[in-house]
Amino acid sequence: MQGLSLLRQKRYNRGRKRIAEDKGLRIISDLHTHTYYSHGKSSPRENVLRALELGISEVAVSEHATGNIYYGVRGRRLERLKAELRALKREFEGKIEVKTGLECNITGFGKSDIPANRSEYDVIILGFHKGILPINGFAWHILFESFGGKSTPKRNAECIMAAAEAGKADIISHPGLYLAVDIPYMAECARQLGILLEVNSSRVTLSKEQLQAIAKAGAGLVIGSDAHIASRVGDFEKALNACREAEVLESVVNIEL
Ligand SMILES: [Zn+2]
Ligand SMILES: [Zn+2]
Repeated sequence: MQGLSLLRQKRYNRGRKRIAEDKGLRIISDLHTHTYYSHGKSSPRENVLRALELGISEVAVSEHATGNIYYGVRGRRLERLKAELRALKREFEGKIEVKTGLECNITGFGKSDIPANRSEYDVIILGFHKGILPINGFAWHILFESFGGKSTPKRNAECIMAAAEAGKADIISHPGLYLAVDIPYMAECARQLGILLEVNSSRVTLSKEQLQAIAKAGAGLVIGSDAHIASRVGDFEKALNACREAEVLESVVNIEL
């Protein structure tokens, strides 16, 4: 995806210089927002207008993919959403870049519901969610684990990164939510594959130590609002506080310091 590769480039150009102040901080993109097409409250247009109001350059609507039993957007409804996003792209051209995203689900070891027509999407986010339809034994295992079963963090990280590589995901959403993952291993894979790890601003799932391990591994962080209502689009406060605290702001690719 062009936008993300530009973001990655920006990060590498910036290098690893410590930036002491972030008073002029600007949000470049919010790639993780939901709408009433799944279980959100606002329309895609309302999300775009809120991002525009905040001076954000790129906004994506990244609805839950089909594998999520409760919230998955599928069939004609998904086609309608994609058409609406195409219309918004045209309408807001030159003002803000509107992106078609999708938040996909882990469905087994190295498996996900990233669609075969992946190229129709600008941003593919992949994360572990409950409410998935397991398509192999490992998915049953991780589902069991997410409800308190025996924890296998290294294996879970391998499972997610194998699925991300196979489906060409751009971002791993909320690493560690519902399911413990080996963050240093995940960060090393993410760096090699050029996949970004999300600091989710609805629920910060990464500890200070984990954020520092990701930055140390040289992987990119991306903040996502995971907004389910337009007023929360671009609400990066919790994630920014966590990144400031861990002193990893310079690893966040979608902010300008
Ligand atoms: Zn999610
Ligand atoms: Zn989400």
